[in-house]
Amino acid sequence: MSKIFEKEIQEFVQLVDSRNPNEPEFLQAVTEVAETIIPFIAEHEKYQSASILERLCEPERVVMFRVPWVDDNGNFKVNRGYRVQMNSSLGPYKGGLRFHPSVNLSILKFLAFEQVFKNSLTTLPLGGGKGGANFDPKGKSDAEIMRFCQSFMIELSKYIGGNKDVPAGDIGVGAREVGYLFGQYKRINDEFTGVITGKGLDYGGSRIRTEATGYGTVYFSEEMLELNGDGLKDKICVVSGSGNVAQYTTEKLIERGAKVVTLSDSSGYIYDKDGIDTEKLAYVKHLKNEKRARISEYIEKYKSATFRKGRPWSVPCDLAYPCATQNEIDKEDAEFLVKNNCKGIFEGANMPTTIEALSIIQDNKLLFAPGKASNAGGVATSGLEMSQNSQRLSWTSDEVDYRLKMIMKNIHENCVKYGRVDENYVDYVKGANVAGFVKVADAMLAQGHV
Ligand code: NDP
Repeated sequence: MSKIFEKEIQEFVQLVDSRNPNEPEFLQAVTEVAETIIPFIAEHEKYQSASILERLCEPERVVMFRVPWVDDNGNFKVNRGYRVQMNSSLGPYKGGLRFHPSVNLSILKFLAFEQVFKNSLTTLPLGGGKGGANFDPKGKSDAEIMRFCQSFMIELSKYIGGNKDVPAGDIGVGAREVGYLFGQYKRINDEFTGVITGKGLDYGGSRIRTEATGYGTVYFSEEMLELNGDGLKDKICVVSGSGNVAQYTTEKLIERGAKVVTLSDSSGYIYDKDGIDTEKLAYVKHLKNEKRARISEYIEKYKSATFRKGRPWSVPCDLAYPCATQNEIDKEDAEFLVKNNCKGIFEGANMPTTIEALSIIQDNKLLFAPGKASNAGGVATSGLEMSQNSQRLSWTSDEVDYRLKMIMKNIHENCVKYGRVDENYVDYVKGANVAGFVKVADAMLAQGHV
């Protein structure tokens, strides 16, 4: 934390805390931004006098609703659904839906807050939002998932629209769920619009959207390494998660000649000393996307691997890609990474690093890519899906991939512009926060006291 502005930062965080009690994840995301934005604002009077940061921390709207559904045995069930519409100064609200038992207002507000900065960084006309439900898709039948999605959309459909709010997937919401949600929206409104992204290719989806977050994270890490005269070839990589982001991060790393040695889920991680190659990754995709099984089944097929409880950060590596969930790298994990001489950490997940871990990583001058920059490829490609839907066109994989690469390159350049500390060090946290902030803040100023 900036020593000069320590008092201002603490006062601001206390103010946000008093307005949002019992929301630790939201407060964490705000603290991380305040630490870099408050010193910046101090040099830019126009943002300070207009209370831009205070306004940014207040969602424009939050909706919470009941989601009743019936399971396969005829039991009545009820969950809670949410949509946090955080900021629309750059465009319609945009951000994923998360279905996970841990979902609550604090988690969705932190995600929506981060999304505002991330969407700004993409340079596309997208506001920020996030939503979801405390529903656990694990162990549910396809019919149960469909009934839940339909009930969820009956209520959510009142608040979204192509020019208003365009959700997408996130944890627990993949191609299957997006299909059911889109189908129900279409029935309710009797219109075929691009109201949700991540759709199937046959009905308005974009090529490379499925791959985009993982690929984009690797493109971003490549830019960072390149700036340091390094590359991905032969690097030992530790990846966490085994869902969408982890799978496509791994795929691109393999393509670039790196060696990925771990993947995980909430039950533990597999360590494959020989590396996860294309064939093994195809098996992981089968296990996770079709069989919906646990990652531990991997070791039954591949004898080079072992399964361990906990998280993979104690495994020696050159580079780490957290791609599972928030706060999955804590202080102790960061100490392992430093001790093992890890060179860089690139966030595929949203806020996977705790504030304490981040300060260890930064004190030791490891390369560090914050998720709001490095995982922005997913939402950027969602933005490209919206453009294709408006034009009634479908671009080729090469075209979308090229645009994705250019967007990640551009985000990287912007982070360097605002985050360069000296000749040898770029603070990407500061760079991403300031670059994201400036665009949103200027749009808010231009639009009056909104
Ligand atoms: P998926 O649901 O496809 O996969 C999530 C993975 O993380 C699973 O392996 C899951 O394991 C694991 N996981 C979830 N919660 C926990 C937990 N509490 N502890 C340990 N492991 C956990 O989600 P995505 O891959 O889409 O999302 C992963 C991260 O990336 C999230 O932070 C998300 O917000 C972020 N993100 C996703 C984008 C996208 O386009 N999908 C875009 C930008 C960011 P299990 O199956 O056991 O739950």
